[in-house]
Amino acid sequence: MTQDARKQHDEKHGDAVTSGPWVDIDLSALCKNFATIRKKTQSAETGAVVKCDGYGLGAGNVARALAAREECRSFFVAYGEEGAALRKRLQDVSPAPAIYVFSGVAAEHFDLFRDHALTPVLNTMNQARLWTSAFPGVPAAAMVETGINRAGLAPGDLTALANMADLNLEVLMSHLACAATPSHQMNARQRSLFAEFATTFPKARKSLAASAGSLMGADYHFDLLRPGIALYGASPFVDPAPELAPVATLRAPIMQLRRINAGETVGYDGVFKAARDSMIAVAAIGYGDGMPRSAGGRAMAFIDGALHPVVGRISMDMTTIDVTDAPSPPETGAVAEFYGPNLSINTAAAAASTIAYELLTGLGGRVDRRYV
Ligand SMILES: *Cc1c(COP(=O)(O)O)cnc(C)c1O
Repeated sequence: MTQDARKQHDEKHGDAVTSGPWVDIDLSALCKNFATIRKKTQSAETGAVVKCDGYGLGAGNVARALAAREECRSFFVAYGEEGAALRKRLQDVSPAPAIYVFSGVAAEHFDLFRDHALTPVLNTMNQARLWTSAFPGVPAAAMVETGINRAGLAPGDLTALANMADLNLEVLMSHLACAATPSHQMNARQRSLFAEFATTFPKARKSLAASAGSLMGADYHFDLLRPGIALYGASPFVDPAPELAPVATLRAPIMQLRRINAGETVGYDGVFKAARDSMIAVAAIGYGDGMPRSAGGRAMAFIDGALHPVVGRISMDMTTIDVTDAPSPPETGAVAEFYGPNLSINTAAAAASTIAYELLTGLGGRVDRRYV
């Protein structure tokens, strides 16, 4: 490029943009996805998993929308503290929703559970003994192991559990290991084991399905569905699930445009080398915001109506995009979308060798959550 051309470029694109990334969160789409799942079941209640701050999108706002617009009355979190914070946000909802805590209860949390009316998901006999001695007759849930081999009671503990006089077991749960692949033989095996174990607790409601099980069919539904990721608009399957509406749209402004000559490199370690004279758009988002570094050279960005490749290393605060093929280069301040209605979150996740769950829960603290 001549000095003159460079000067002209700098004059046209010289205004640096200094604002950062944001995620638009479509609560109507969230509610639509909830309704889509609810319509799939004849008899089961549809709950909502809002652990990890509602998969990064704000547990309080997500749960309030589902409670108010869809009458969702069962929420699930991972830890007692999450449950307590959620209870405060749902104070005015009537009747008060159930809040289940997947990790169960420990003695130092008795006050927390009592003050916020939390329901533990008991994972060990020790937790079951703790709970029944502190809160005899107060409803609890329990997780039984059927094959994922994470937290949960061993099947051999169930008889002892059933014999606990002070246990009021409201829900018996298990969790599928391989539901991302509906045809996997593990699903049917876990389903029939669960049905067998459930006969020990005839009065308890039964809950096996997360998002994948909820979308897989009535066989997996039992009495209470626990969808998470599908509510947030991402497919729980290896394959896309077109019936789900995108909820989160990750966006960042183009802070600067840079013209480079063929042979120049872009970003750390010079891993991208331009094969032609190129126009590079610098977006104000990086791995510090949850734009995975592993997506460098593989992700796409949607700008001014077209997809363009992310090139070079992703930095902490910046992502570089090759917009050479745009009919006219974007202006500074143009908006780049990294997933959303124009680029599915499942595709974006695959480009980073990960899953949508990790993209959402990895959204950084400085990504502005905007509810639309
Ligand atoms: C996280 C979680 C869910 C929700 O899973 P999704 O795949 O996001 O629907 C349901 N049940 C348990 C026990 C979980 O840990």
